[in-house]
Amino acid sequence: MEKLVSLAKRRGFFFQSSEIYGGIQGVMDFGPLGVALRNNIKRAWWRSMVELRDDVVGIDAGIVMNPKVWEASGHVQNFTDPLVECKKCHQRFRADQVSGPRHEDDGGEFTEARQFNLMFKTYVGPMENSSTQAYLRPETAQGIFVNFATILNSSHMRPPFGIAQIGKAFRNEITPGNSIFRLREFEQMELEFFVPPAEEMTWLDFWKEERLKWYLALGIQRERLRLRQHDKDELAHYARGAFDVEYEFPFGWSELEGIAARGDYDLAAHQRASGRDLTYFDDIHRERYLPHVVEPSAGVDRTMLTLMIDAYHEEEARGEQRVVLRFHPSMAPIEVAVLPLSRKEPLTALATKVEHGLRPHFRTEYDDTQSIGKRYRRQDEIGTPFAVTIDFETVNDQAETIRSRDEMTQVRVALAELRKELEARLR
Ligand code: ATP
Repeated sequence: MEKLVSLAKRRGFFFQSSEIYGGIQGVMDFGPLGVALRNNIKRAWWRSMVELRDDVVGIDAGIVMNPKVWEASGHVQNFTDPLVECKKCHQRFRADQVSGPRHEDDGGEFTEARQFNLMFKTYVGPMENSSTQAYLRPETAQGIFVNFATILNSSHMRPPFGIAQIGKAFRNEITPGNSIFRLREFEQMELEFFVPPAEEMTWLDFWKEERLKWYLALGIQRERLRLRQHDKDELAHYARGAFDVEYEFPFGWSELEGIAARGDYDLAAHQRASGRDLTYFDDIHRERYLPHVVEPSAGVDRTMLTLMIDAYHEEEARGEQRVVLRFHPSMAPIEVAVLPLSRKEPLTALATKVEHGLRPHFRTEYDDTQSIGKRYRRQDEIGTPFAVTIDFETVNDQAETIRSRDEMTQVRVALAELRKELEARLR
């Protein structure tokens, strides 16, 4: 984990936010490669969950919502973690994460646990009082529930159908940590799938399998992924069943995504609190009902961490240690690096031309810094599947070398065939 975090910073995937001021706990900034990786994750999710389905539509709701949303949803009352404070040093901890009645570091006794609400508060408008207080959303799901009727009326969707959203969420976690596993500002990818009540468990079954397949398609190792069914005592009181997709992180098996059958809890709560009718009238079966919901809820940050950990390999190559991120090509921030052997002309002009020719078809990078060996090592470390090297021969033979990240083989290919050759390897 330490090595990965250091690579992430050195190469510009992620690092402490506002670091020049000492950082801020629980918030990370994402560098050029990090943004590229996150975009790949979000694009793959949106593609599979929205674009490739005819029963899901997307929305993008506000981050700050009417605070009544969070009263109705139960978050004001219940979105809490138990908190204890050390009476000696006044540090605070999650009660379920301490090992005894005293602080291990200084022997100070812990206070009784109290419930600590995880929602960030803010004020909307120039007045700061209880009537202007609002919250940063702790999940994207509620933006979907409160828009259910509007989407139903403005689209031709009818249950079973889903509404998807990707966006930032905020939780004032008592103990953020494990790199980007638990953050205070993070990004969710959520689907609320609205179904006739009798179909709820069938759809839970469908979505848990579908979501596991999605992670496998990103190239994550099968033996480090599992579905874990929640025990009865773990379930929220309204939930009919739930599964977590878990990954075997260096700190143990942990949740990557939660998939839950939520009954009509959310729509019923908002219907009650808002006084709006959120039922659906099925004009074929001539019946009116409040749809039940199956929710697959994933995190961009946890997926990113998983992809990086899973891809991370240290290996011995030709008497040298190398670090390589074996990303699936669809996830690699850069697909093709174009590397002129030297900065001399005509190589620069030729390599630039080659890179510009590939750019519309692949995620490319042009790199003419350092020795070629160092550049290969950098591309290995950032997980670029292929590097195209332009050398002095290229001028004469109109061919260049494709070097593969995984096999470290090099093949000479005619410039005219380059795009086709790369497509065969990457698509
Ligand atoms: P945990 O038990 O780990 O706190 P949770 O069960 O509260 O998670 P959910 O409310 O089910 O999490 O959120 C759905 C998904 O959102 C999680 O599976 C995770 O990928 C992501 N997520 C939730 N909280 C955080 C966080 N603090 N930092 C990063 N991602 C998060």
